[in-house]
Amino acid sequence: MDLKSLIRDIPDFPKPGILFRDITTLLRDRQGLRYTIDFLAEKCSEATLEIDYVIGMESRGFIFGTPLAYKLGAGFIPVRKKGKLPAAVHSIEYELEYGTDCLEVHRDALHPDSRVLIVDDLIATGGTASATAKLVQQIGCELVGFGFIIELRDLQGRKHLPDVPIISLVEY
Ligand code: 5GP
Repeated sequence: MDLKSLIRDIPDFPKPGILFRDITTLLRDRQGLRYTIDFLAEKCSEATLEIDYVIGMESRGFIFGTPLAYKLGAGFIPVRKKGKLPAAVHSIEYELEYGTDCLEVHRDALHPDSRVLIVDDLIATGGTASATAKLVQQIGCELVGFGFIIELRDLQGRKHLPDVPIISLVEY
């Protein structure tokens, strides 16, 4: 299936000069949605990744991460922006183009022996995925890989990620 044909390009969003890859058009397509999750799960199986938990980043990582976890028989753990999770958290600050941001995960969600796959809709500069990797590695988890629907190759985000399998379904 041609997933690119289901991803909509929105020029100048959220700022002038940025071409936003909109995945809502892929999500609303019933065959496209099923194919995307099945394809991602198949690639994880091909790479023989042993996964206890899928970690998804707020908010589009939740959309793809949860059905993937279901399909793989893994649990799902949300990584959220600062102040959103109700129980005690581990946090990580990371640099943005302007300023910093902070991601959090529940302290009791992960254990040092947990094998985790990090999932998001898209990797651009790799800042979000790399911060999430640091967060789970600080806890001592075994990071087994990354899964993305879209990879923006020119930005070379994968250069900033640890040396584990990186799966992406569509490249621009
Ligand atoms: P990075 O941290 O790799 O620079 O940016 C990736 C994060 O920004 C992801 O969480 C992703 O959801 C969001 N993002 C950045 N650009 C786009 C885009 O064009 N389309 C979508 N759907 N998400 C984007």
